Amino acid sequence: MLNIFCNCGSCGIELYDEKPKLSLFCGCEDCRQATEWGAKNGAKPSSPFAEAIYMRSDIAFVKGRENMKAVQLRKNAKSTRVYCKDCHSILGIDHPNYCNNVFMFFKNYCETNFKLPDKVAAAIYLDDLPPSATHLIPNDIPLLYSFPRDREKFRSIASVRNSFKKPDQPPKGITFLDLIKSMDKIEVLELEKGRQL
Ligand SMILES: [Zn+2]
Ligand SMILES: [Zn+2]
Repeated sequence: MLNIFCNCGSCGIELYDEKPKLSLFCGCEDCRQATEWGAKNGAKPSSPFAEAIYMRSDIAFVKGRENMKAVQLRKNAKSTRVYCKDCHSILGIDHPNYCNNVFMFFKNYCETNFKLPDKVAAAIYLDDLPPSATHLIPNDIPLLYSFPRDREKFRSIASVRNSFKKPDQPPKGITFLDLIKSMDKIEVLELEKGRQL
C-alpha cells in the first residue's frame, strides 16, 4: 500500500518504515517558493510556514515513476524535490544534509496513510518568515532563527541528530536519492531567490 502519494493518484511510494523520525516547522524562503511553485501549477494553496516531516529513506515500491519529475529551484541548488507531473503534489525532498538516511515531505502538500507526528521538534529559519506569518510561530518548541548561528541549538535536539546522520544500516530497498537519480533529468526552474511567485 502506498504511504506517500499525490493528490491525483498517478504516483506515490511505499516505505519500509512508516514511522516519522522528525518534524520541523520551516520558515525558509526555499520551502515557501517550492510550495508556491506547486500551487501555481495546480497543487493545493501554499502556506507560509510548512511542516517538514522526515522519514527513513528506504522505499519498497514506486508507483508511476514516469509521472514524477525532479525539480530544483535554481542551478546548483542543494535540495531536489519530486513533484507529480500532473497535480504538482510534492512527494519528497532530498538534501545532502539528510545523508541519504532520511528524506522530507511537507504535511498537506501530498497525501499520506500513516500517523503524522503529534509534536513538532522545533521551528527553523524564522528570520526568513514574512511578517504576515509571524503569528504562526508556536511558543512551546525551540525557535531557531538562522544558520549557522543556531546550529548548535539545532544539533542539541536528539531527533535532529538521529535523523541527519549516516544510516545505521543499509536500506532494504532504494533511497529517495536513488529515486531521483533514476529519473532522466532534473528540471531547474531558475527562480529568483526569495521572490514570491
Ligand atoms: Zn498527481
Ligand atoms: Zn525550508
